[in-house]
Amino acid sequence: SFGSDLSSAVPYSGNVLKASEVIANRAFKLNNEIDNIIDDALANRKFSVYYQPIFSVEQGRFISAEALLRLKNEKFGFIPPDVFITAAEKSGAIHRIGDYVLEEVCHFISGDEFKELGLDYIEINLSVVQCMQRGLADNILATIEKYGISPEKINLEITETAANYSQNILIENMTKLISAGVSFSLDDFGTGYSNMARLASLPLKIVKLDKTFVDNSNKPKLHIFLKGTIRMLKDMDMEIVVEGIETEQMVETFSNLNCDFIQGYYYSKPIPQNDFIKFIEEAKISA
Ligand code: C2E
Ligand code: CA
Ligand code: CA
Repeated sequence: SFGSDLSSAVPYSGNVLKASEVIANRAFKLNNEIDNIIDDALANRKFSVYYQPIFSVEQGRFISAEALLRLKNEKFGFIPPDVFITAAEKSGAIHRIGDYVLEEVCHFISGDEFKELGLDYIEINLSVVQCMQRGLADNILATIEKYGISPEKINLEITETAANYSQNILIENMTKLISAGVSFSLDDFGTGYSNMARLASLPLKIVKLDKTFVDNSNKPKLHIFLKGTIRMLKDMDMEIVVEGIETEQMVETFSNLNCDFIQGYYYSKPIPQNDFIKFIEEAKISA
């Protein structure tokens, strides 16, 4: 029979696939297909923008949110942003992705529902690759104008890696956007190599303290370092968002350390636009 032919042709090897091999295999397949998955998602609107609320300690209300991109695939399920953003930066698809996110956010802001929420601005992540593009500022301002929204409603998050590369193009883009009313945040502060002099030279409104800071804030020496860093940033007239806050105790710690804004699972995970609207509406009622 066919079955016995097959088993004699391919003898049982006795090898069992280990979990790590299965995961490596899945990652290999995903890596091979990710460029096609991204192209397909862009063409067929399979990306969606989620929102994570940001709480103001002083005002006792949600004042903004960060837009975070999601990609759900039939075969792989939710693909982590770290995976598809990295791939898109290599392939160049990041420019189309960046345009998509900005369009979605501007569309949301231009709607009546958004006005009711009373949020000050939405934070949008910019990739290093986008920051090095000469036409970035004009491109962003054109979209803002297309939707007829106020540029003050947009805050762009950049990382220190972006500030490492071609400072001239970055500063040129920032200057143009800032004079139109757009503001900037420095994302992931405290990870990797932090150049304080450069940080001080950038026209930033907000600095976002990374989760790695938060997680170690109970260690005595790190607490002192954190305290000093926060005071220094405040002295430089910058506002501070602390990210990755998951417990009430952490909320207390960072409120006492004079952080302006708090973001993290404690309040909410990033959620779809409709859920986000409901979340803010309910928070306003119970306030
Ligand atoms: P990020 O900009 O540092 O975003 C914050 C990440 O922390 C998000 O992960 C968010 O879901 C997660 N997070 C928020 N609060 C908590 C918390 O309390 N605990 C923990 N454990 N995590 C928390 P996410 O959405 O997976 O995004 C990962 C990264 O992918 C982002 O890091 C950002 O660098 C990039 N990314 C996401 N969306 C975009 C986008 O639209 N454009 C670009 N260029 N990059 C994006
Ligand atoms: Ca961010
Ligand atoms: Ca971050």
